Amino acid sequence: MSPIEERRHTLAHLLAAAVAELHPRALPTIGPAIETGFYYDFDYRSASPKEEELAKLEDKMRELLPAWTEFTHEAVTADVAREKFADNTYKIELINEIEAAGESITLYTCGGFTDLCRGGHAKNPAKEIEPSSFKLERIAGAYWRGDENNAMLTRIYGLAFDSNKELEAFELMQEEARKRDHRVLGAQLKLFTISPLIGSGLPLLQPNGAIIRREIEEYLWDLHKHKGYHRVWTPHLAKEALYQTSGHADKFGDELFRVSGKDEKFFMKPMNCPHHMQIFADNHFSYREMPVRYFEPATVYRDEKTGQLSGLTRVRAITQDDGHLFCRVGQINEEVSSITSIIKEFFSTMGMLDGYWVRLSLRGPGGQYLGDDKVWEEAQMALESAARTNELPYRAVEGEAAFYGPKLDFMFKDAIGREWQLATIQCDFNLPERFDLSYINEKGEKERPVVIHRAISGSLERFMGVMIEHFAGAFPTWLAPEQARVLPISDAHKEYAHFVVTELKAAGIRATLDDSNETLGKKIRAAKTMKVPYQLVIGDAEVAGKSATLEGRQEKFGAMPIADIVEKLVEEIRTRSL
Ligand SMILES: [Zn+2]
Ligand SMILES: [Zn+2]
Repeated sequence: MSPIEERRHTLAHLLAAAVAELHPRALPTIGPAIETGFYYDFDYRSASPKEEELAKLEDKMRELLPAWTEFTHEAVTADVAREKFADNTYKIELINEIEAAGESITLYTCGGFTDLCRGGHAKNPAKEIEPSSFKLERIAGAYWRGDENNAMLTRIYGLAFDSNKELEAFELMQEEARKRDHRVLGAQLKLFTISPLIGSGLPLLQPNGAIIRREIEEYLWDLHKHKGYHRVWTPHLAKEALYQTSGHADKFGDELFRVSGKDEKFFMKPMNCPHHMQIFADNHFSYREMPVRYFEPATVYRDEKTGQLSGLTRVRAITQDDGHLFCRVGQINEEVSSITSIIKEFFSTMGMLDGYWVRLSLRGPGGQYLGDDKVWEEAQMALESAARTNELPYRAVEGEAAFYGPKLDFMFKDAIGREWQLATIQCDFNLPERFDLSYINEKGEKERPVVIHRAISGSLERFMGVMIEHFAGAFPTWLAPEQARVLPISDAHKEYAHFVVTELKAAGIRATLDDSNETLGKKIRAAKTMKVPYQLVIGDAEVAGKSATLEGRQEKFGAMPIADIVEKLVEEIRTRSL
């Protein structure tokens, strides 16, 4: 555990100690550190505390903290432990399990409070934990051990960081994130909807959302088409045997959607790789034709738990901007370079390149992986060397690899500093083996290709969710569903306003006319609510001067000839400027 994780977990103990003082009847169960702090699950055996009681518990934690100067621990027999927690069936269950596993049972004590624990604490909490660096965040229900057949417990979440400054920065970011929630903006800007009749995790794009998605998809293809990629298309389901061969059937298990045909059984595809591999195999390529590069924005299906589905970011139908490259080992470096240049250009256009980093995701202990050690080492070395050649800011992390090979995962920060794992480049020596892929080498012999799996945006659904929040719905002009709105001040200006809209549309600009009978003020507010990048106001002077008064989100440009407005907007869209 890292020092912050130790402090976070220590705070879970401290919370349990505070609860023990204020609610002696409550039974503590487990309390781990989590990404932004900690939680502890309690069975209150009476009414759970209300949110407003969190402040009291927090005060109690701060009151107890100065006496928490040292953790002591002792290994005890199961019987002693069971006696100690005689009235706590949850702890008894844990003790029985630890006993059955033959592991040692340890009790940790600090500030006079003892808990069953495996260890991993701050050595001197009073000294190491800044009292204002943590805060109790919220109360939620949680089933004992995540199983809905078990008792519902009370989970108290806490935030904890290295300092009060970091805690405040995090809370500010959370507040900003709430304002940008893509589910709220998605409804407000009419981008997507979720129908209970269709199902959760299966969002439907409204016309506005479909425009954004198409723009992203077209941009992605623009970045690939001159780099030797070919577009392919593959169906959405395939026979079970395909995924048994690829290993996906084992890997994804009950996350796979099963489809029964009249005679045969199918899976909705969880990945596109096996499909692209069948296309490759059909061609019997020679070494002169390598590398072969396929591109396909393709939807895959995974049956995630309903409770985990949310907006566009956790869905059951995931459209990857997928691509597979089949190359020789000696070509890996150059191919990774080419993909990296696409990734950098794409995220620079989105305004997300600053502060990105790359995780070299390696195998970890206990995971479910295909292939032998030698093949893995070869793939890891190839990727690491490509990362060095491209001077990527990378860190190696164990346990994050794909089941068929190591990968480079690109982490980008959004406008409010949240980190998203988006692009990926994966090196695979295993699936080519499973599908017996080959090309003919210089000696006329069959040779095994390496497969590079890559995605730039990751998934179009999730990426769109991230973009909505990153831009807070105020998309750059090229992405905005509605790029310009023409606002005539009164009826007398409608005819000319109509002409202006026609001119804008003829230049390929997504323009609309607000010919409602509302006041100009209301029309401007309506356009701002929909976050339209440009408004063109038309009054007497504009009609007379064949112009329009142009207003952007940040800037007022005053009256401009229509031709100049068209030129300005077209250039901004063409260059996909931010
Ligand atoms: Zn502990
Ligand atoms: Zn793949």
